[in-house]
Amino acid sequence: MTSSDELRKRREQEAIRIRTSLNRLRGEQRAAIKGGETTVAFVEERLCIGCDQCTIVCDDDAIEMYKVAMASPLIQVESNQKAKILRADCTGCRLCVLACPTDAITMIDR
Ligand code: SF4
Ligand code: SF4
Repeated sequence: MTSSDELRKRREQEAIRIRTSLNRLRGEQRAAIKGGETTVAFVEERLCIGCDQCTIVCDDDAIEMYKVAMASPLIQVESNQKAKILRADCTGCRLCVLACPTDAITMIDR
């Protein structure tokens, strides 16, 4: 029978294996996204859910949120927001692309 100590060790090993695998995947994903000074981030408004994750990771203060009306009158919220890239401040680092949960941000040529 498996002891709780053995189970804990197996869990820890499995957590390390999953973390390593995810980190490798993120690295590959990041390498596949173009970036750098010749590129700038672009937000597709339709896909943006206003979650603010991109503004948190952007070290260059190149993203600001703006308020929009809700598309459906059935949902009542005080304010609905979307992200906008400030092109002049964007350094093309791609962090926002990786942080966005809805794939609303892509890198485009300047
Ligand atoms: S690419 Fe980098 S600098 Fe540009 S908006 Fe995204 S996080 Fe900010
Ligand atoms: S992370 Fe994506 S969905 Fe969230 S506010 Fe930024 S662009 Fe919109």
